[in-house]
Amino acid sequence: MESTTIVALASGHGVAGVAIIRLSGSHAKDIALKITKRQDLSVRYAHFCHFYYQHGAQLDSGVVLFFKGPHSFTGEDVVELQCHGGALIIKALIDTALAHGATMAKPGAFTERAFLNGKLDLLQAEAVADLIHAQSSAQASAANASLQGAFSKRVHRLQQQLEAVRIEVEAAIDFSEQAIPTEALSVLKSKIQKLHESLDTLLIDTARGVREQTGMHIVISGPPNVGKSSLLNYLTQTETAIVTDIPGTTRDLLTAKFSHNGHVFTITDTAGLRETNDPVERKGIDRAHEAMGRADCIWALHDLATGPDSEISDFHKSAVSQNTTVIKVGNKLDLVTNETDSDDGFKVSAKNGIGVSALLDHMCDIFFTGDQDGAVFSARSRHIIELERCKEHLHQAAQTADAFDLVAEEMRLAQQALSSILGAYGSENLLDAIFRNFCLGK
Ligand code: GDP
Repeated sequence: MESTTIVALASGHGVAGVAIIRLSGSHAKDIALKITKRQDLSVRYAHFCHFYYQHGAQLDSGVVLFFKGPHSFTGEDVVELQCHGGALIIKALIDTALAHGATMAKPGAFTERAFLNGKLDLLQAEAVADLIHAQSSAQASAANASLQGAFSKRVHRLQQQLEAVRIEVEAAIDFSEQAIPTEALSVLKSKIQKLHESLDTLLIDTARGVREQTGMHIVISGPPNVGKSSLLNYLTQTETAIVTDIPGTTRDLLTAKFSHNGHVFTITDTAGLRETNDPVERKGIDRAHEAMGRADCIWALHDLATGPDSEISDFHKSAVSQNTTVIKVGNKLDLVTNETDSDDGFKVSAKNGIGVSALLDHMCDIFFTGDQDGAVFSARSRHIIELERCKEHLHQAAQTADAFDLVAEEMRLAQQALSSILGAYGSENLLDAIFRNFCLGK
């Protein structure tokens, strides 16, 4: 089928030794032949060529690669022109391609074409963006696992299991005039239960994948002067927060990023939790509570030199949302001369860093360990929403197990939710939201 030919700079912006300009579409090769004044281009062969302006003057020289569709990234004919990486040359080459009939590619247009031509499913297309934006080795390897299909395979497997049960249910509908034998019903219920369990495991691994992408969010909270700001500064190795021994210095939320063992963490320092009549400090404490509600994990900090404060746990009890993990962390370990083990939780010193690594290793263990197949994959909240939708339909199917036609319908809807993850029924709005977040040329 005839497709418009798009063009964009595929390599980074700014001056560089080499830049890559990518063309994709039915006329990619023709346009490249005009630019290079060549008779033909061999497939997957590095041709050294001269590049010419539309009006014939030579502009630059470089390497040209031709990928014949469908054996290309987009599934269409693709040509990559490697020119010198100067802004003027890049612009002139793109303008020349446009003059020869190409149109400027929108951000994500190449990957969108790869998706529309069935070279990637939607999960893999999203993984391309995640890989480009990865900030840590763990993020990159998770995105790569998704791009290689680790997540898609898990969704496919579940889809097949669902399909098998659905076919059985649909076959049984013909006999449902008669009473359904109790044994058949309990077999069906146990099969749905098994699907539920597989889905729950996938949901846990997907949530981990989302966390890997967004970075795990830790909120440090506790009374004033226990060393919250000092710990933030130690972790980020900068003077992000003001540290003093005057209680109530931190009024607003202070957020920064750091990484440990290749995993990204976002950390928020909050106002010290205490009763106060100061309206500004009160506002800061309200914000601290809000931040705790959004956190993946709360470090409830206390001062080991003065002992744990019972008030802390009351503050936390009221603020912690159901799924938030709270870890007790005792700070100022360096001041403790005769340490007792009566205090549970982690013990650290924000001053000299003792114990911090052990705490972070623990965070990695509980939040970033691999899935059953050993590969952590990247994921997004959109996938969680669809998996939850699938779960809800499975739940409904189990509830209505004695009415086979209703079960079949719920199973169909559950399957549909899974298919949406891979991109079936992708609305224009959804595709737009996903692909327009890509950079230009990808
Ligand atoms: P925040 O109010 O909880 O944010 O506490 P700060 O980080 O502002 O620290 C309060 C005081 O405790 C400051 O004087 C810090 O220098 C001191 N401090 C913080 N952490 C430690 C630590 O691990 N060891 C020691 N000796 N002092 C600390």
